[in-house]
Amino acid sequence: MQKPSCVVVLTGTLLASLFLSDAHSAERVATWKAGVATVVITPDEPMWMAGYAGRDKPSEGKVHDLFAKALAVEDPAGTRLVIVTTDLIGIPRPLRDWLQQEAATRYELPPEGLLLNASHTHCGPELRASKASLYGLAPERVSQGQAYLEALQSKLLALVGSAIENLALAKLSYTHGRAGFAMNRRRPTETEPRNAPYPDGPVDHDVPVLRVENADGELKAIVFGYACHNTTLGFYQFCGDYAGFAQQYLEDAHENVTAMFVTGCGADQNPQPRRTLDLAQQHGRALANGVEAAMLGPSKPIDERLQVAIAETSLQFADPPSRSELESQAKSKNKYERRRAVVLLQQLDETSKIDTSYSYLLQTANFGDDLLMIAMAGEVVVDYVFAIQAGVSRGTSLGGWLQQRRFRVCSLAASLARRRIRKRRCDALHNVARPVRT
Ligand SMILES: [Zn+2]
Repeated sequence: MQKPSCVVVLTGTLLASLFLSDAHSAERVATWKAGVATVVITPDEPMWMAGYAGRDKPSEGKVHDLFAKALAVEDPAGTRLVIVTTDLIGIPRPLRDWLQQEAATRYELPPEGLLLNASHTHCGPELRASKASLYGLAPERVSQGQAYLEALQSKLLALVGSAIENLALAKLSYTHGRAGFAMNRRRPTETEPRNAPYPDGPVDHDVPVLRVENADGELKAIVFGYACHNTTLGFYQFCGDYAGFAQQYLEDAHENVTAMFVTGCGADQNPQPRRTLDLAQQHGRALANGVEAAMLGPSKPIDERLQVAIAETSLQFADPPSRSELESQAKSKNKYERRRAVVLLQQLDETSKIDTSYSYLLQTANFGDDLLMIAMAGEVVVDYVFAIQAGVSRGTSLGGWLQQRRFRVCSLAASLARRRIRKRRCDALHNVARPVRT
């Protein structure tokens, strides 16, 4: 019975991914195909920025460009997976739905073959319609966000097509390193946890690295992850924050290599210390160094059998406030509480109810016996890494899980998510009583 050597959960605003790698992969001749593509997605005009409700003006220029990047991989049987990473706050669900439908039509890529991830930079454009009311955005800003989203859709569709078009013989291998700047931010108090540095809280400092080489063994792409909010910065310039710098440093160091960042389960993690551009660069360097250090050691070749799956489950929120509670909150001095109450009262008036469930996406990519990637929607706290690791490890003792593990892990992750939502009143998804379509 083979036992997993490591489990890494990555949380993006769209997904958390879990890599599981066997300890004893023998040397194999890889017959994968892989293709990469990159597109700039920096807005070409000032826009409202995502991530902090307290912003009071639109963006003022950029530190560097924001990118969307795609890696397409195909096994000898023709099964494909396209991983798309973005320097964005998140991937709104309508964008995911549109893209998967178009990619299926144009490229015959099934929904389970499309894996989307956002770096959760808090210095990117606001593209989530759900935030407009909560932030009190002016109508022209809302329509600007919609226009950006429409342009982005077309860019992402073309990006997926380019990555598929670029498919060529390749070798895949897995390794991992470490970086230590993520710190837990759920500091316990006598009542609710506070969003504050909590050095005694759980962290996941692992840096998973997927290496992609061409048939001649030349490095072509690096997909790497880290479980931490991309929140060193909160100023008014577009910037990929530490993840943007880490990608930039790796691409500077390796000519003609595409470096792609995938967010891990860092909903309760902040880069520390933070708040300055210099610190974002330092954290980016630390993460790039973690990747470089990982690549100094041997990488485990990945068997050329790919299985992909996607599933949707319904998560139940805690009971919503009553109408009278909402009417009282609508007069609150706290503008965010007031705006949320107005949104929920409007929903109550229009539909006679407040949504009490959230349609939650889970996705897996199983690379032979060597690597398992799990993607989970929303912002996922680091505890999931350890819970899923424990669950997957328990699965190994049952036998036969290697064939079934993607489904076992899907159901495990779903049940964990359900429990968490009930217990923590949705804070794992960063919102209360109202689903976030990100
Ligand atoms: Zn967040």
